[in-house]
Order: sequence, then structure tokens, then C-alpha cells
Amino acid sequence: MNRVEPQKVLVADDDPINRQVLAELLKPEYTVLLAKNGEQALERAARHAPDLVLLDVMMPDLDGYEVLRRLRADPHTEQIAVIFISGLDRPEDEANGLKMGAADYIAKPFNATVVMARVALHLQLVRQRRMLERLANVDGLTELANRRRFDELYAMEWQRAQRNGWPLSVALLDIDAFKQYNDHYGHPAGDRALRAVARTAAAWMRRPADLAARYGGEELVLLLPDTDAAQARTLMEELRDAVAALQVAHAASHVAPVVTVSIGGATLGSHRDIGPESAAELFEAADAHLYRAKQEGRNRVVWRTAP
Ligand code: GH3
Ligand code: MG
Ligand code: MG
Repeated sequence: MNRVEPQKVLVADDDPINRQVLAELLKPEYTVLLAKNGEQALERAARHAPDLVLLDVMMPDLDGYEVLRRLRADPHTEQIAVIFISGLDRPEDEANGLKMGAADYIAKPFNATVVMARVALHLQLVRQRRMLERLANVDGLTELANRRRFDELYAMEWQRAQRNGWPLSVALLDIDAFKQYNDHYGHPAGDRALRAVARTAAAWMRRPADLAARYGGEELVLLLPDTDAAQARTLMEELRDAVAALQVAHAASHVAPVVTVSIGGATLGSHRDIGPESAAELFEAADAHLYRAKQEGRNRVVWRTAP
């Protein structure tokens, strides 16, 4: 089994004694990061992506409330769980902190056992949320994004391309003669071949917004934002080559002695007046080109000759 990485806790407090006490307490179980003011807390949170922040409310300059507000305003840090730890111990202070979106509120002077118990509880919730997100978005066999996740990102990228006038390319990849592969080598070997193709596709996604997802069965979809037809086609030719270069033997294939793929793609180009009018239409064009790649002999890329 994989060793589980210790979770990361950021302690932000302007009082050095408090910082030290909390750090000593947490260190045996967690990776501890320290910040001595609000500014540093934001910087460390953005840089190290902690699982949880223990946040002092009263600090000079940026106080805890403001730090929490800014964490929530940045998509990179908005999910980070925050526990306020504060000398303000009136019920309305606590209620206010929770209303602002803190996961919990601990009054000072704090009790070490209670701090540890609450930290453990919230880190457990963080783990559970991550697991659910993974289950909802990631395909278990290939570890690629699943179809649900693709649909979500595709809709988003379509909007972004429309708004900014950027091109958007989408490609469908299907393994050639995969039924014969399973028949010849068995389903577990088929799974391994599919995973190898998936890994190669993922490795070919170079930009942060590029996405390789499992669309279904032995079919992957590749989403290439801000990529024109010529660039996308070249990239897909390379990917097709790379899959063949894996040299996964396929003795039952009528296409090649190794596992190969066919790819069909389409691009929303800069001439919007003659291009596809919806995300669905662009996708259908990619699918039609995949069908053509199959008909023309497989192990090839067919792209729309972009206007
Ligand atoms: P073509 O070249 O036209 O794509 O032929 P093909 O045999 O690949 O096409 P077909 O759609 O007839 O068969 C796809 C096969 O892929 C059938 C199915 O059992 C197999 N397959 C789909 N998903 C998986 C999977 O997760 N694991 C394995 N091992 N096989 C899968
Ligand atoms: Mg196939
Ligand atoms: Mg198929």
C-alpha cells in the first residue's frame, strides 16, 4: 500500500509563543508551516496549499477575518479549511467567525487535547471531500478525467473560446481492433493496454488547460483550448505515433502488429461564421472524422480541413 503523506497545517499567529506551542503540538502528526502575520499566511497558503489553516483572528495589519476573506476570493485557496483560534471568546465572535466560512472556532487560552481533536476531525473531513471529488471526476481504470468532468470542462472551454475569440480543438481517439485484442490476450491485458494508451495521451497534454479524458470504453477525448487546427493535428499525429511506439504487441490486429489508435478531430477556428455553432456540433464533427479515420484504414488522424 502507498504510504500516506502527512497532511499540511499552516499556523498563522503573530504571537511567537502561540506559534511555537501549536507547532510542537502538531509536528508529530502533520507537516507544519508557520506564518507570523496575515500577509505571510496568504503567501504560504498560496505556495504550499495546506489542508488546514489555524488562523489567529487578532493580528496587526491583515487580521484573521481579512485573511479568510482573501483565501475564499482566490480559486487556488478557496477550498482550504480554516479554524479560527482567537482570544475573542464571546459567543457572537464565534458565531461571526463561523458565518464567515470558518470550519471551526477555538477560543484562547486553548486546550491542547481539544485543538488536536478538532484539527484531526477537520483534516478527516478534508480527506473525505477529496475522495468524493476524485470519485466524481476521475475514471478508476485509467486515472484520466471521466466523462462527467470532460463535459463540465468542455462547456467551460467552449464559453471561454467564444468570449475571447480563441480557437478550440477537440479530438476523439479510439483503439483499433480492441475487441480482437481482448479476444486474443484477455480482458486484463486489454485493461493494461488501455491504461498504457491513457498514460501516453495524458503525457501529450502539455498546457495546464489541455485535458485527456476517458469518454467511454476504449475511447478517449482530448480537449485542446486555444489550439488551432494545424497545431492540434500535429500534436495528435505525434500522439498516434507515440502509441504505436509503445510497441504493445497485437498479433490479432489487421492494422499493424502493435496496438494503434485512430483519431478524429475538429476545431472551432477564427472564422466563426462558417464554423460549428455549438459545442455539440464541434464534438459531432470530431466523431464523424473518427469514423472516417476508421473507414480509411485506421491508425491515422483525420481532421477537418479548417477554413
Ligand atoms: P475498431 O478498430 O473499429 O475500433 O474496432 P474495435 O474492435 O476496437 O471496436 P469495437 O467498438 O467493436 O470494440 C471495442 C472493444 O473495446 C469492445 C470492448 O470489450 C472493449 N473495451 C471497452 N472498454 C474496455 C475496457 O475498459 N477494458 C477492456 N479490456 N476492454 C474494453
Ligand atoms: Mg476501437
Ligand atoms: Mg470504440
